[in-house]
Amino acid sequence: MRKMQDPSSKFIKVRCSNCKNEQIIFGKPSSKINCLVCSTSLADTTGGKGKIKTQILEVLE
Ligand SMILES: [Zn+2]
Repeated sequence: MRKMQDPSSKFIKVRCSNCKNEQIIFGKPSSKINCLVCSTSLADTTGGKGKIKTQILEVLE
C-alpha cells in the first residue's frame, strides 16, 4: 500500500516550533538536525530512522 504523502525520501520545509524559522531539511535525516537560528532540535534519529520533531509546512517535490 502506498501512502499519500510520505516525506521520507524528499526534502521538506519545516518551521521551528521555538523561533518560527523556516528551514528545508531532508525528510529522512541520517543525523540530528538543529534549527540554524536557535539550535532547537528539528529532527532526530531513532534506530537509524529519521524522525521529524517539528511542524512540517510543505513536502517539496
Ligand atoms: Zn529555531
